[in-house]
This record gives sequence, C-alpha cells and structure tokens, in this order.
Amino acid sequence: HWRQPEIKRTKTVCTYCGVGCSFEMWTRDRHILKVQPVVDAPANGISTCIKGKFAWDFVNDPERLTTPLIRDNGKFREASWDEALDLVAQRLLQIRDTHGPDSIGFIGSSKASNEEAYLTQKIARAIIGTNSVDNSSRYCQNPATKGLFRTVGYGGDAGTIADMEKAELIVMVGSNLSENHPVIASKLKAQKKHRGQKWVVFDPRKHEMAERADIHLRPNASTDMVWASALSRYMFEHGYADTEFLNARVNQIEEYKQSLEPFTMDFAAQVTGIAKEKLIEAAELIGQAKSVCLLWAMGITQHSHGSDTSTALSNLLLVTGNYGRPGTGGYPMRGHNNVQGASDFGCLKNMYPGYEKVTEEKNRDKWAKAWGVPKEKLSLEKGNDNFTMVKGADEGSVKAMFIIGEETAFSDADSRNVHSGFESLDFMVVQDIFMSRTAEFADVVLPASPSVEKDGTFTNTERRIQRFYQVLPPLGDSRPDWQILTDLAKRMGYDWGYTHPSQIMDEVAGIATMFQGISYERLEGWQSLFWPMQTDGSTTPLLYTERFHTDDGKAVLFPLEWKQPAEAADSEYDIMLDNGRMLEQFQGTNQTGRGPRIWSQAPNWFVEVSPELAAERGIEDGTWVRVTSRRGSVEVRATVTDRVAGKTLFMPIHQGKPGLNLLTGEHHDPDVNTPAYKETAVKLEVL
Ligand code: SF4
Repeated sequence: HWRQPEIKRTKTVCTYCGVGCSFEMWTRDRHILKVQPVVDAPANGISTCIKGKFAWDFVNDPERLTTPLIRDNGKFREASWDEALDLVAQRLLQIRDTHGPDSIGFIGSSKASNEEAYLTQKIARAIIGTNSVDNSSRYCQNPATKGLFRTVGYGGDAGTIADMEKAELIVMVGSNLSENHPVIASKLKAQKKHRGQKWVVFDPRKHEMAERADIHLRPNASTDMVWASALSRYMFEHGYADTEFLNARVNQIEEYKQSLEPFTMDFAAQVTGIAKEKLIEAAELIGQAKSVCLLWAMGITQHSHGSDTSTALSNLLLVTGNYGRPGTGGYPMRGHNNVQGASDFGCLKNMYPGYEKVTEEKNRDKWAKAWGVPKEKLSLEKGNDNFTMVKGADEGSVKAMFIIGEETAFSDADSRNVHSGFESLDFMVVQDIFMSRTAEFADVVLPASPSVEKDGTFTNTERRIQRFYQVLPPLGDSRPDWQILTDLAKRMGYDWGYTHPSQIMDEVAGIATMFQGISYERLEGWQSLFWPMQTDGSTTPLLYTERFHTDDGKAVLFPLEWKQPAEAADSEYDIMLDNGRMLEQFQGTNQTGRGPRIWSQAPNWFVEVSPELAAERGIEDGTWVRVTSRRGSVEVRATVTDRVAGKTLFMPIHQGKPGLNLLTGEHHDPDVNTPAYKETAVKLEVL
C-alpha cells in the first residue's frame, strides 16, 4: 500500500537581493517542487524574479559541504564536529593570548540571519575582546551609510518600497534596478506606465531602466559628486530650495551654500561630460517635482570618494525638502539579502548592534553588563575592517581570520593581494555551504546550512525585518551558523545556552535601543517590523517625519570639495572598466551556478564594448579580447552593444577564477575603506 508523501508549504525569504521577497516554498521530502508567491508577502506581493523562483538547485547539490574539514599536511581530511570545533577554539584562544585580541579578524555573513550576525560579533567582542568584525557592506554600501550618517543620522533607507511607488519622480543614480532589484523595478515600471511616474537616470551604462527613463544622463566615471552639487546650487539660485523646510529642520545652510560656489552648471558640464542643457533639464524636473525618491547603489559607492558623492546626493534631497514625507527620501539599495541586517546587528568595526558606538564608555558598560563580561574585556577602540584585516594579514599584524559565508578571495578587490594575505595567516577558519574559493585557503572548514534549513530573520533594503522558517532539515552533518557559533563559544568557556534563534532575538531586544519591542511573536507569519521600534511594538516605515536622527533633531547640510578619482585613464591604460551584476546570477555563482535552470540563462563571461570602440579596434560580437589593468589581465569574449558608450567597458562580476578582481586595485574610499572597484583603467587588445 503506497501513499504519496505529503507536500509541505513553508514561508521563506529570498536570499539573492535586498528586496526581501517572501513566498511559500513547496517541498516533498527534500525536493523543492515550486516557489509560490502570495499576496500577503509584504515587500514583493506581486511575484519574484528568476532567482527567487528557480535558483534553489544548490540546496541539494552533491558538492554541498556536509562534514567539517581540517587541513593536514596541505590536504583537507574529514573530521568530527568535536575535533574541528576544539581545534578552532584552542587555536583562536592561543593566538589571542600570544598576539592580542586585534590579531584576530571576523567577517560575518551578509547572507546569514540577523541572529547569526549578532552571535558573530558577540564572539569577537565578548570572547576574543576585539572590535575587528565586519561584513560585505564594506564592499558595497558603507559609503552610502557614511553620507547618510553625515546628513540625516540613520544609514538605512528613508522610507519603504511603497514610498518609492508613491513618488512623483524617481532619480536613479548608479543603480541598475532591473537586474539588481528586479521586483522593485517591476513595481516602478507599473507606476510609470499607469500613473506617469517620472524617472531621471544618471548612469554611464544604458541599462533597461535608463532606456525607459524620461531623461538618461551618462556622466564620466567618478564625477557624480559634481553634478549633484551643481544641481543643489541650481535649486538655491532658481527658487527650488525648500526654504521653509530648511529653516525649520536643517543646520549649516549658509556654510553649505558657500561650499557650492565652484559648482556652476558650466563646471559640472565640463567635468561630467554631460551637456549643460541636459543638466538643467534634470534640475528642472527635480525642482518641480512634489515628491522625489533618490535611489543609488554601487555605481556611486564603489569609487574612491563614494562617501562624498553619497553625501552630495543626500544634500540635494535636503535642499529640495525631500525627506520625511511619503514618497520622498534617500534609498541606498542594499545588494545582499541581509547586508542591512548584518550591519544593524553589529558586524561593524565601530558599532554594537543598533548602531551604538563602541568608543563610548556608556555603551561599553551596558553591553558588558548584559553579556556578563568584565567591562575591561570590551575594547573602546575601533577594530579592523575587511580591508585592514587583509592588509594586516599581509603585513603580519593579523594572525587569524574567521570568515562566515563570504567569498572574500573572489569578491575583494585586487585578488592577488588578498590571496597573499590569506597565505600569510597562521590560522584561518571558513564557515560555508560550499568549498568556496575562500575556503580553499582555510585550515578548518565548517559546513553550514543555508536559510531554507533553519529559522531566523532577515532585514531587507527598506529596514523591514521578516522571519523565515525551516523548510528542510540540514543536509548531512551541516549545521545552522547560529548553532556552530553557540557550540564554539561553549568550547571557549561561554555557555550561552541558545536552543532557538528566537532566544537570541529576545536578548537583542533587551539591550539594543533600536530593537526594543522586537520578538518572534510580532514577526509571526507574514508580519514584519521596520526599525527603529518601540517597546509597544510600534515600528517606523518612514523615517524623519518629525525629527532627524541627530542630537538636536535637525539634519545637516554637509559641505564638500571635489576630489579627483584615485585612478583614471592615461595614454597606456586608456579605457575605464565598469562592472556589475547580472539578473540571473549572484556574486561568485556558488549558489546560482549549480543548476541548469539558472546557469543555462547566462553561461558565458563577456565584456561589453561600445560600437564606436569596436569599430576602432576591429572587434565584433564574440571576438576574444584581453583586458589588462595595472594589476593583471583576463581574456574574455566581447559583446558589442550601445549599453556602453565610448571608451568605457562593462564586465559582469560573477565569472572567472578569480576573474574581475585580478584587474581591480587596492585604491579605496579613505572615509570607509570601500574598494574603488569602478575606478579601474584598462587597455584592450584583440587576441
Ligand atoms: Fe526578490 Fe531579489 Fe529574490 Fe529576485 S533576487 S526574488 S527581486 S529578493
């Protein structure tokens, strides 16, 4: 007598971008049958993109790590959890006692849960005694956060996806929304089609959103700060500055106005390469719009002055009074599904969870008391970030690294330096679901479970916190990251006693002011909460309605000077290389590269070449070319397209081993140490 096994339907949240789509996953045994969007899904509602729908083959992939591995005589061998965790605990404590707490660095995962991010920084701070903990926001949105901290006080999106839909005008800057945040792109396309929402796009690449825009402007690389400041000046000069809003809610107006003196439209046209009339056309649209949302992403932040440009964009919103009302605000679009949460929950070198500064004694004392450790144990000094950890490894001050779910060997700029840093370490632990390129450098590899094999919460780009539920049991002997970290802490003398992630969240709610009132009960099912929250469970979808997050509640217009990019084209390296994601893939393809349903959509690596450059160099679609920077070179096929113009190339970040980051350099934004991935001068040869 045979009966068909039951189909199970479980709510989960997508792990491929910051939109935070949630849906039901239908499973039978370990088979993922389908992904079913539901109307109650708060961030997406309508549907998902290709990745949320189909990119789950990796879960049952035969290459999943299922057993801990220890390197012995240069080769990995399988080990028990007891042996692997005992070794990690013993070596980390030994290195801390010999070389000091800051000789150890932790990189938390922007794909793991909020609770797991919290435990990562808790091990670093409360057990090792270092603030050297970071996450992949260092590679992407830290400059945006810096710009928002300087001007309005919180580093997150000012409002929600619904606010973006409500806006009369959307300004998209260095953000390829249709490939990187596809469901938000679909929602905005509907607003454009049915309600006549206006779009202004500043981007060197003519991606789909640029093609659909009312105005598309293509600035020269690394010059966005100049047009943004020129537009602010234009607003003051042409009666578009919101003086009532400025006088009531903003500080430093006169000082800022003086700083705008060099930023005439003529200067902006000369530096950006955009015609003055076009800049004025964009300024008029922005000045006349009743509500503006400004979205920006890596096209702004991954430059040597991304923090300044982000600040200039936020300044422009303040000048035009576009904060604190529905349909307004600044929106740094978060890339990884939980890069917002990994930062919110403390995987930062300078902040405890909830953005409480590590350098302030009152915060140190509060967290020490809550964690039951002597206050002297918690450092008042900022720690290393991803950039200085790897550099410190190369130079000998960092002896050990613990990397959770991040493909640092592939994703960090200037791969050769990163690899040599890893090779210099005394001890390296990688916790991941696959033998990644980073894990190949490790001494111990710990097999983790992906989101569908555990419970937890994620925070999407709009600061929305959502629960995801366990769909399947962990594969083989793999374990959820929170369990691994809890077991490791116990072996280092700290019995935290967590048996479910809800207990971790309860702990956070009792300490971090920003998260007071959060609980799994209030997040049950399709419910969600936006930080900051209050103890009664009230939540904040739209920030700054009454006050900005500053001491006196007023925003700050932050004066800036124009600085040249760290790397520019010259007579030898005469072309600028742009780069970014593709809709079908995620990062180093460890997950999306596993199954035919996704991989067949985008199997080949390519470089986009403009028709004019192709004609000059004799390049056709499919021609093999060599792209060489001051660091290295890669060989790849050309795609001739007017998505790029003139002497600008575009290359996806996903493929190759190690790929694009053989070309990028260690030059970075000095304010936040984010690599200037998009300031890469190259030469192009036909093979
Ligand atoms: Fe939604 Fe982003 Fe996942 Fe696509 S990748 S389903 S847009 S969360």
